Amino acid sequence: MSKNSIFVYSDAFQTYKFHDRHPFNQLRVKLTYDLLQTLGALHDGQIVAPRLATDEELALVHDSDYIEAVKKAGKGQLPEDVALNYGLGTEDTPIFPNMHEASALLVGGTLTAVDYVLSGKAEHALSLGGGLHHGFRGKASGFCIYNDSSVAIKYMQEKYGVRVLYVDTDAHHGDGVQWTFYDDPNVCTFSIHETGRYLFPGTGNVNERGQGKGYGYSFNIPVDAFTEDESWLAAYTEALIEIADFFRPDVILTQNGVDAHYYDPLTHLSASMRIYREIPKLAHQIAHQYCNGRWIAVGGGGYDIWRVVPRAWALLWLEMTEQSDISGALPKEWIARWQPHAPVSLPLEWDDPEDLYPPIPRKAEITEKNAQTVMKALQPIRSNKQRLNL
Ligand SMILES: [Zn+2]
Repeated sequence: MSKNSIFVYSDAFQTYKFHDRHPFNQLRVKLTYDLLQTLGALHDGQIVAPRLATDEELALVHDSDYIEAVKKAGKGQLPEDVALNYGLGTEDTPIFPNMHEASALLVGGTLTAVDYVLSGKAEHALSLGGGLHHGFRGKASGFCIYNDSSVAIKYMQEKYGVRVLYVDTDAHHGDGVQWTFYDDPNVCTFSIHETGRYLFPGTGNVNERGQGKGYGYSFNIPVDAFTEDESWLAAYTEALIEIADFFRPDVILTQNGVDAHYYDPLTHLSASMRIYREIPKLAHQIAHQYCNGRWIAVGGGGYDIWRVVPRAWALLWLEMTEQSDISGALPKEWIARWQPHAPVSLPLEWDDPEDLYPPIPRKAEITEKNAQTVMKALQPIRSNKQRLNL
């Protein structure tokens, strides 16, 4: 099925670092890279270095005064009160040295992935440094400075004239990308996330459907706290199949935050590694069904960097490269190399045990609620179909 896939990687992704105690830690990209290499599932010929996004590329989405502010902040030249107006220097998004360069590299990584796929040099591309879906035009938010997915989508529109389906499975709403394309009917955004009732950023309600010409091209499925694999996967599968059939994209861009896992310290969902096997499977299928294989995948959230992220992101690459039959024990050498650095016991196997967590008392209620949310989210597609058949 796949002619080839590329993996965008550089140790320089580590320069995107707020401080030692901050939950956003790009060491997870290196842990994933090392896991795949140890496994023998990632070869030198597949690895491509990211480039730096230019100011002009960043300005496809971001205001130029914001870009200048990020540059100044990274050099220690931005007054604190001015910084705060740009969402910089907050607890979530503190200022760090050379933050412009570090952030532009993550965007450049996603653009590198885009160029490989849309020029036909690769069928699929993965850039795990990206996925910073909370970045706004003129403001940093939620650990995100520049929004690589938004920039990449604008870039794809301008350079390649394609219609893009953006699929966001992070536990947090993909707000930055949604608002950037809210009035654009040539970009369809689909975000499935924990309800914003108790979780940042608070948006992603099922009724956020787009505006103006873009009305009907924004889809949201906010699932209840404590949602488990089965209910989550039922919602994702049903929705993505119908949305893809409705929109018929030229290319699919998936944001692969892996913070819906039970172990994730920042969210309240109860998913296991099972969803991280299934999410890329369906995305892959859709890419071949509608997009001639064109699939770009980026990273995203994921704050249990030891027990969750490396396995989940490795599974994404294994699906992309058709090596997804791997299960059982994780490579012993990988565990031996990283266990001394980890504050928790590393998992020994690819899949989670059945008894990962105690039974969820409200399971039936949560499942029912999520099914209703899916119906609401897909209602416009379904009623339109019905009308056309009549
Ligand atoms: Zn997240």
